[in-house]
Amino acid sequence: MATGDYYEILGIPRTADENEIKKAYRSLARKYHPDVCKEQGAEERFKQINEAYSVLSDAQKRAQYDHLGHDSYTSASKGSYTGGGGGFGGFSADFSGFGDIFDFFGGGFGGQRPSGPRPGADLMMNLWISLEDAVFGTDREIEVSHAEPCMACDGTGSSTKKRISCPRCGGSGQLRQMSQSIFGQFVRMTPCPECRGVGKVPESRCGTCRGAGITQVKRKVTVRIPAGIDTGMRLRLEGYGEAGDIGAPNGDLFIEVSVKPNERFVRKGDNLETAAEITPAQAVMGSEIEIETIGKKKVDLTIPPGIQHDTALKIPGEGVRRRGRPGDLLVRVKIRIPRQIPPEAKELYEKILEIEGAKSGHKKGFFSGLMGKG
Ligand SMILES: [Zn+2]
Ligand SMILES: [Zn+2]
Repeated sequence: MATGDYYEILGIPRTADENEIKKAYRSLARKYHPDVCKEQGAEERFKQINEAYSVLSDAQKRAQYDHLGHDSYTSASKGSYTGGGGGFGGFSADFSGFGDIFDFFGGGFGGQRPSGPRPGADLMMNLWISLEDAVFGTDREIEVSHAEPCMACDGTGSSTKKRISCPRCGGSGQLRQMSQSIFGQFVRMTPCPECRGVGKVPESRCGTCRGAGITQVKRKVTVRIPAGIDTGMRLRLEGYGEAGDIGAPNGDLFIEVSVKPNERFVRKGDNLETAAEITPAQAVMGSEIEIETIGKKKVDLTIPPGIQHDTALKIPGEGVRRRGRPGDLLVRVKIRIPRQIPPEAKELYEKILEIEGAKSGHKKGFFSGLMGKG
């Protein structure tokens, strides 16, 4: 399926605005529409164009795409069932917003009549992940309950797996209703309630799904969570939503990710921030301390002499792993004043006070000395 960059597919710069995207899409979609273009591979190209447009025309999806990069974005939306059941997933063009563009083709695309089989509904679920998983990416197995074509009847709703023309509407999917009004007689068309406007009914009602063609199932799905994902981002697993009517595509499953707060690290964009405590002596003289990164790696960090409280020191490359170039780890240095010190240290502090010109002692400390002058 589409492997190229969405911007390249539409032939637009990464800075393209909404109008440029729409314009590029319209002209390409017209050119490669399978009804018009008989060129080899036109349909494939058309699908790619639609895939690119469906992402870039949606501000939220586009931001996510730009953020994650093509490979992460597209692999994120390709989950896989662990419980068998192939034939799902993969890309199917997003035809939303087609009306205004393809009116001149006379009706819908792909034989999809307005009153025809309805595509399945999208599902949405929330997934909490740890900050570690957001930083490095991970695979998560989740259980999804959704409607799926009935296994017993292959989704036909019929135990014979055959569907016959609806006896009530004669296969048209529409019922003619003669109405009498003061203006005279007129004919009204309504969708047939027997076949729900599809025109076909099961030959012999399936016992498992009672003719509906769909059953509610629980499935384990492995979701690839790309590195760099953040709270509020959505992953799309195509075809994992509710089953559509027979002949219509399944809906998609959207997973909205929330990242749990971490005890030691706070995320700021692609950087991580953590705090490290040092003593006043370490601050004055400089030191070397050990920092454990979010990946449990021990890194020696050099504290330069004279460092001020709350200064951030950078450990490059130990931030969020995203698109090759990872963010950094910022270590915010906190100078901790000891509440109790051993006698030897106390002597030395006394000495420092003397050198600083401030008298020592309980009653006449540095502050009382200052106050006394006023
Ligand atoms: Zn009917
Ligand atoms: Zn069935």
